[in-house]
Amino acid sequence: MADFRFTCPDCGASTVVDGGVRERLLAVGCPVCGRPVGSAAFVDATSAEQ
Ligand SMILES: [Zn+2]
Repeated sequence: MADFRFTCPDCGASTVVDGGVRERLLAVGCPVCGRPVGSAAFVDATSAEQ
């Protein structure tokens, strides 16, 4: 299962999510500030692991 790193462009909240959570955040927005987020807020964490 792919993991993604979500970084909110508005409040800067950052967390790793799976594909299902990614879809949910795209639908409902940032869980911290509630702003809408787009696909650009997600990067593939399997290749961007630090
Ligand atoms: Zn936010």
